[in-house]
Amino acid sequence: MAHSVQAFHTFSLPSQCSQLIEITELEQLQQQSFSRPFCILGEGSNTVFLTDYHGQVIKMATKGITATVREHDYLLEVAAGENWHQLVIYTLEQDMPGLENLALIPGTVGAAPVQNIGAYGVELAKYIDYVEYFDITSKELVRLSNAECQFGYRDSIFKHQLKSHAVITLVGLCLPKQWQPELSYGPLQQLKDITAQNIFAQVIKTRNSKLPNPYVLANAGSFFKNPIISNQQLQSLLQAYPQLPHYVYDNEHHKVAAGWLIEQANLKGYRIAGIAVHQQQALVLVNHGNSVGADLIAMIQHIQQQVWQCYHIRLQHEVRLMSRDGECHIDLEETP
Ligand SMILES: Cc1cc2nc3c(=O)[nH]c(=O)nc-3n(C[C@H](O)[C@H](O)[C@H](O)COP(=O)(O)OP(=O)(O)OC[C@H]3O[C@@H](n4cnc5c(N)ncnc54)[C@H](O)[C@@H]3O)c2cc1C
Repeated sequence: MAHSVQAFHTFSLPSQCSQLIEITELEQLQQQSFSRPFCILGEGSNTVFLTDYHGQVIKMATKGITATVREHDYLLEVAAGENWHQLVIYTLEQDMPGLENLALIPGTVGAAPVQNIGAYGVELAKYIDYVEYFDITSKELVRLSNAECQFGYRDSIFKHQLKSHAVITLVGLCLPKQWQPELSYGPLQQLKDITAQNIFAQVIKTRNSKLPNPYVLANAGSFFKNPIISNQQLQSLLQAYPQLPHYVYDNEHHKVAAGWLIEQANLKGYRIAGIAVHQQQALVLVNHGNSVGADLIAMIQHIQQQVWQCYHIRLQHEVRLMSRDGECHIDLEETP
């Protein structure tokens, strides 16, 4: 029976799926057919349903946090459906610091290892002990060590070999008792009284000043990936745009800031129906309502075309886009 998923993704476009299954007990996973197409969903903060989806949405909503005090650290074993930010609050209340830089990142604990969430100088991988998942083929629970998860920048094995094969059920986090604050990021350097609570409060203040709250103004966070370009292309771009923010990627490539490219292409505030490039942060697209997936596709393509015309750079979306039969990618001049 068709089910609206508008409230199940933070970009909040009107859309329906064929079936919505909410997993609150692990035993339910054993009973699922996983007939394709299916899509695993947390809180939908990195997912946009562009159209009606002709498949099953399997939403992870299992709950539970166990904390074990060990000699040198705290081991937290957290069910996939727990909310990430609430977990950060819980750890600080229990005097187990470490996760404070990752405050206010939307979504579930189960989705966090998928893209190795990160912010303000900290990546989740630093604290992962293990990730447990339900193997859709063998129907068994499998445990991966940190190294086996193959974490990278916004990346892990769950985006590659295990994509659509694994439902993350439990995340084991290890927080050392010897707390070391991470203060390399600008606004945190100015903190005078360095406590985990103060870092947490500063991160929240900074994030709130930069990013719209997705539950107030629908959005899916950073919409585009920071593109990687050759050193040669960077040098020629820097002649025309000396201010272009860039970071070394490897010996031959640099990463450039997608938000800057969009802003300099004069797209801040650009609007198609209710979809707009956010006024404060050009990397974020917002949905003011009265919009459909076609409006968002038109917006993505317009931004990609403008960025291509200005800098000869292809922008790729970071957000997972779902269309009728599954995930889709919108590239320059192409529609799903
Ligand atoms: C305003 C805003 C700010 C953000 N800021 C940041 C930031 O600072 N840093 C950052 O890293 N990200 C950020 N994000 C992105 C987002 O918060 C993360 O990607 C988050 O981990 C998504 O969680 P979710 O539960 O909403 O995932 P969903 O969108 O539901 O799913 C995301 C992906 O994870 C998979 N997935 C979800 N649950 C499971 C599971 N149990 N097992 C297997 N696969 C699963 C899905 O299939 C999908 O591929 C931001 C997003 C928004 C809207």
